[in-house]
Amino acid sequence: VEEMIRKSEKLAVVGQLAAGVAHEIRNPLTSLKGFLKLIEEDMEANPNYFSIIHHELGRIDLIASELLVLAKPQAEHFALRNLNRLIEDVAVFLQPQALISNVEMVTDLHSSLRPVLCEENQLKQVFVNLIKNALDSMPSGGTVTIATSMARDQVRIIIQDTGIGMSEETIRHLGEPFYTTKGSGTGLGLMVTHRIIDRHGGRIFYNSALGKGTTVTLSFQCVDDVDEIDIKAPAVAHAARL
Ligand code: ADP
Repeated sequence: VEEMIRKSEKLAVVGQLAAGVAHEIRNPLTSLKGFLKLIEEDMEANPNYFSIIHHELGRIDLIASELLVLAKPQAEHFALRNLNRLIEDVAVFLQPQALISNVEMVTDLHSSLRPVLCEENQLKQVFVNLIKNALDSMPSGGTVTIATSMARDQVRIIIQDTGIGMSEETIRHLGEPFYTTKGSGTGLGLMVTHRIIDRHGGRIFYNSALGKGTTVTLSFQCVDDVDEIDIKAPAVAHAARL
């Protein structure tokens, strides 16, 4: 128990740090971008410099937005949701990207999925991050299958791709901040993803084979009505505090 408390305290500190970094980076970025635009409009200079500066700024901006997802406890609102609906929304949102990558997106959603107590926007972010990783792993096309099912009192979500797969080395580093094998990756997606899943008392597993693809399995405790939430209050309070 002591170990668990220490772990959650550590996670809380990480969250505060992320909030700090994100906000500190964002304000000067906005001002820099404005001034750059002014200079660009009225001075002769090597256009390459500007494109590099823009690119680097864009990168910092991306890092800040990924970290900001962790840093909005005041906007948190946990409610009972059918995860099929969240997945459908995310699938529609990512469909254009799948089309461009020549990836077929298949959904196989369980017809009577029980609801999960969750922060809708955060869980959508989880699905976006995982499906985007699946798309990134299939540069020359393939299939991503997103399936939901019930396993006892758990909702299970499987995201399976036919992509490049991961080495054992990569699997060991998953969720480590800034660990990426992609040229333009931030290595923050899975750190954010794991943290959100933690906040929801959920679990995540990876199964991957190089050259064959990756299967990510998520599970969350389901709750059918508000009475049950009362019974599970300690777990809920824990989830909200993290
Ligand atoms: P990023 O996408 O910016 O690299 P992530 O934290 O989302 O950051 O992912 C970290 C690394 O995990 C990726 O760079 C990639 O090597 C690996 N990875 C994650 N998901 C998959 C997947 N579905 N297929 C292959 N590799 C993956």
